[in-house]
Amino acid sequence: MLKINVVTLFPHFFNSPLKTGILGRAIQSKLLKTHFVNPRDFTEDVHQSVDDAPFGGGDGMVMMYPPLKKAIESLSATNPKVIYLSPQGQKWNYKTARSWAAQTNKEWIFICGRYAGVDQRFVNDYVDEEISIGDYILTGGESAMLVILDSLSRFIKGALGNELSYLNESFEQDHLLEAPQWTRPKDIPGYEIPKVMLSGHHKNIKNFQYLISILITAVKRPDLLIADKVQQDLPKAIKMAEVLSEEELKACGLNMEHLQILKKGGEWN
Ligand code: SAM
Repeated sequence: MLKINVVTLFPHFFNSPLKTGILGRAIQSKLLKTHFVNPRDFTEDVHQSVDDAPFGGGDGMVMMYPPLKKAIESLSATNPKVIYLSPQGQKWNYKTARSWAAQTNKEWIFICGRYAGVDQRFVNDYVDEEISIGDYILTGGESAMLVILDSLSRFIKGALGNELSYLNESFEQDHLLEAPQWTRPKDIPGYEIPKVMLSGHHKNIKNFQYLISILITAVKRPDLLIADKVQQDLPKAIKMAEVLSEEELKACGLNMEHLQILKKGGEWN
C-alpha cells in the first residue's frame, strides 16, 4: 500500500477527486492510503493563525513555522520522506511518478503551501525535496497534490484494470508520444482510417503505430526524440507516411507540410 500524508489548510479540497475514477478505486481497494492533517489544528492563539506578514515587508502572508512543525510531528509516519510542493522544486514527471509509486516501504508527507509560501526555516529543517508541477504559480499546493496523486495512482500495482496498460501510453516506449487512436464511426468526411489499422495484422499494426509515434513526437515534442533507435527510424517513418493518402495522414494529425519540414530536418518555429 502506498501511504500519502498531506499537510493542507484545505483538506476538503480533496473530497470529490479522491472518490472518483482510478484514484477513488485505488483508495477503496486499499492500494493507496491518504491522510490529511491541517496545520490550523495545531495553533495556540484564539484566531488559529497559520500565517503572518513577511519580515522586510512585501505582498502576501507567509505560512508560519510552528503550526507546520506540529502538524508534521503529529504524524507517526514510518521512514517518512517530506516533500514541499513548490514552483521552485524539481519538475514532476512520469519517471518520478513511477519510481515513487513503487516505494511502499516509506510514508510520504506532502506539504501544500498557500499565500506567499512557507517560512524558509521550516523548509530547511523538515523538507527532503521540493517538487513543482510546472513553471507557473498556483494559488496553493493542493491542485499540485492532486496532479501528483492522480499520476502516482496509475503506477500503483493493481490500480489500473490492465496492469501494463500504462506501457502503451505517451512517454513510455522510447520516450515517444502515443500514436493516434480512433473509434466508431469509421467514416467521417475528410478522414480515412489508415488501412493497416483495419487489416487485423497485429505485427503490421504495431509497426505502423511505432512509426507514426515517431512522426507525431517529431512534430509535437522534438525534444523527446532522444533514443538512438528512434532517430535512426525517423527517415523510415517519413517514407512510410509519404505513401499514405492525404485523408489517412489527416486522421493521424499530420499533413504533407509536416513531412516536408521533417525531411529538411524539422524546423517548426
Ligand atoms: N511566492 C512563491 C514563489 O514565488 O516561489 C509562490 C507561492 S504560491 C502563490 C503558494 C503555494 O502554491 C506554494 O507555497 C506552493 O505550495 C504552491 N505552488 C504554487 N505553484 C506551484 C507549482 N508550480 N508546483 C507546485 N506547487 C506550487
